[in-house]
Amino acid sequence: MNETPVCRVAFIGSECYPFIKTGGLGDVMYALPRALIKQNCDVRVILPYYSCIPQKYREQTTDLGHFSMYLCQDGREFYVGVKQLDLDGVTYYFIDNEDFFSWGNPYTDLVQDIPKYCFFSKASLAVLNYLNWNPDIIHCHDWQAGLVPVYQKTLFSDTKIRHAKTIVTIHNLRFQGIYGAPHIQYWSGLPASVIYDYANLRHGERDANMFKGGLAYCDSITTVSNTYAEEIQTPFYGENLDSHLRYHSAKLSGIVNGIDVDIWNSSTDGLLAATYNADDVLEKKPINKRALQERLGLEQDDGKFLIGIVSRLTDQKGLDLINAIMPELMGGNIQIAVLGTGDPRYEDSFRYYEQAYKGSVCAYIQYNEELAHQMYAGCDALLIPSLFEPCGLTQLIAMRYGTVPIVRETGGLKDTVRPYDETINEGNGFTFDRYEAGLLLDAIRRANWLYENDHERWNQMILRDMYKDVSWENSAKQYLDLYQALRG
Ligand code: ADP
Repeated sequence: MNETPVCRVAFIGSECYPFIKTGGLGDVMYALPRALIKQNCDVRVILPYYSCIPQKYREQTTDLGHFSMYLCQDGREFYVGVKQLDLDGVTYYFIDNEDFFSWGNPYTDLVQDIPKYCFFSKASLAVLNYLNWNPDIIHCHDWQAGLVPVYQKTLFSDTKIRHAKTIVTIHNLRFQGIYGAPHIQYWSGLPASVIYDYANLRHGERDANMFKGGLAYCDSITTVSNTYAEEIQTPFYGENLDSHLRYHSAKLSGIVNGIDVDIWNSSTDGLLAATYNADDVLEKKPINKRALQERLGLEQDDGKFLIGIVSRLTDQKGLDLINAIMPELMGGNIQIAVLGTGDPRYEDSFRYYEQAYKGSVCAYIQYNEELAHQMYAGCDALLIPSLFEPCGLTQLIAMRYGTVPIVRETGGLKDTVRPYDETINEGNGFTFDRYEAGLLLDAIRRANWLYENDHERWNQMILRDMYKDVSWENSAKQYLDLYQALRG
């Protein structure tokens, strides 16, 4: 960074590509700092030093030192190691502690995860005090960093970090870190007045809620689309925090995510059978489609309408709707390719359909980055019928790769996919509103009809999607405006 930065920002979160990623949070923690650096911010990212971080990155870290930190109510001391890695202009600080971060997965169960993220939240502030670097903004992501604003305004209120303004970004409100209040009180070491106060952490009769505390104590709340910012203030989407969020609505806003357009770039993507841009997509996409059909054991046929699903296989993603219409979808020219892992119920049902409709359905039950790239390039359409979707990245990636999204109008899907309007030949994809299998089937049939019967209009939609701005630039500017407004 050559000039004086316009803002110093500490990002605190539990995932960040390429070190550790289980979903969209990992993408945002990677891409947003880079976009902010381009706007002359000094951004440093604080992460757990999970043992599952690939060895090639672990080897590149340097030790900055270590110290002991009190954590629990009874004053147990824990080791806090600090490691640094600089990658493409971003500084990453990793917090090392084998008691908490040596599991194979970042998330295990709440009994383990509550202590882990109490430790992580407190240690992040302790590390900021330990480093000779004072952020203007502490930007916390999801419940795992939820206690950071609570600690800042309580146990750290007389340390140098107290001057920073705090933001909490909700990437997914479903996960909140709720557990018995005594357990959270013991591990966090926070005063009873904070834990047992309904305006703060207290949740129901017996529980405390780490995310709820962060939302109460922070200076600003953002979430990852405008529609989701509205939705979470209603009982249906509010995950029992809707009244808490309505109470704090003056500090709540939505800023839609982007994607990293260097990673997701079909003209340079080395994982594809053929790279392409908007000039040659219509020639090159079929090459990617054939390669994908071959890799997935699907019938190699350019005329088939190949629909992809790249997703965590959970209730959130609307998979019960897809299951309900699978038999009706099959038999015509539709192929379905699923890439995902998650709930065994969905893994098994897609495996079943693969057997039942050999050559037309593929269930690739894995987490596989390489295949994800090939799916975005090779499919004709990507299906995202989510029950709720804070932002969703897969529809943005799909559009950038000239793959038409078919989505439910919720959260960020609603904000980013303009429904196709045949009267004016405009729009980016096919959408439906209520969470009903019949409406999903109708949206797929409308897409399939256009694909089969009006190549010109279908191809125009591919080009509109590829030209749509899905980069971080605009959203990063909105975050910067928020940071500057908070600093005053
Ligand atoms: P969420 O965060 O709810 O999982 P998003 O749409 O915001 O959903 O982000 C999902 C991200 O994870 C995208 O980058 C997508 O490509 C990736 N992804 C999801 N499932 C898989 C998988 N099985 N293999 C590879 N990448 C996946």
